[in-house]
Amino acid sequence: MDRSGHVRVNKMASRQTWILVGVLVLGALALVAVAVVPLSPEDVPQASGQPGRRSSSRQATRVNWSQVPIDRQRIYGYLKQICALGPRPSGSPGMQQQIALLQKHFQQLGAQVEQQSFTVRHPLHGAPVQMTNLLVRWHPRKSQRVLLCAHYDTRPFPDRDPVDPRGVFLGANDGASGVAVLMELAHHLGKLELRYGVDFVFFDGEEFVFRETDPYFLGSEHFARSYARSRRNYRYRWGVLLDMVGDAELTLYQEANSVRTAATRRLTRSIWNTARRLGVREFVPRVGYEVRDDHLPLNQIARIPTCDVIDFHYPFWHTRQDVPEKCSPESLAKVAWVMLEWLKRLR
Ligand SMILES: [Zn+2]
Repeated sequence: MDRSGHVRVNKMASRQTWILVGVLVLGALALVAVAVVPLSPEDVPQASGQPGRRSSSRQATRVNWSQVPIDRQRIYGYLKQICALGPRPSGSPGMQQQIALLQKHFQQLGAQVEQQSFTVRHPLHGAPVQMTNLLVRWHPRKSQRVLLCAHYDTRPFPDRDPVDPRGVFLGANDGASGVAVLMELAHHLGKLELRYGVDFVFFDGEEFVFRETDPYFLGSEHFARSYARSRRNYRYRWGVLLDMVGDAELTLYQEANSVRTAATRRLTRSIWNTARRLGVREFVPRVGYEVRDDHLPLNQIARIPTCDVIDFHYPFWHTRQDVPEKCSPESLAKVAWVMLEWLKRLR
């Protein structure tokens, strides 16, 4: 992923004199004032950090699972089932198997499934590679719709792995976690009568990347262009991208590009407010990083206000260690629960 991860770094300088204590008190008052003013792009943290490194470990929120409509073992089972296919880069046999598995899963649960295929040139040798976005529609006749999406391709190689950057990359968190959440939500969406129709979209080619100069977001760009130019009788009111949501030590800060406009700010806040209402403290209501991801084409080309729900503090990012054991049933289930309750309350 082309991720300029700016990790928030809090630096507290020590102050010795009473004069400076006074200054600090005034500063604190100013901060309180800022906190009630809506975020603007200038509020994006400027301090650069190492992407993929956690700044601090947090205590996981305890949840009374008997009260939660999400099946955490089933959702983790989905993540393991996807990873058991092996690597799933664009155009690979693993990707073909994943498409077949998902198509069957969603059709059995009552959704309308459609493949959106297109061809790109392989970045290294130019041979044609088929890409497929998978579209899953619930209540397809509703004209006001919400888009929930995730990329389902995996990076060809674990190129940040300190030992074997040409080894096997499974993409449990970076790839399968978003897929698993949507597979679980499918058990609920057919039965729910929501104000909005819901579409899941699985993007191919998010990171069909062999060198840093190779283009990202091939699937989401194709989807966004096709949406923008199509004559259609529906529109997406909101979009939510789920990426890297399975980390066993989950901390979900807001993402800077997801609070750029008034519409995306409103959307992002409503999701984090839902988490607060449920007591899921893994959703931390402040900006923690800036990430370039599939939500950019959706916001910029398709003009769908879209938020990226992403935990970018993941030490195993783009390494051979991104495996199911680094993810947890509880993290996946908390994200699925927040998304489900958010959808139910959407007006
Ligand atoms: Zn990635």
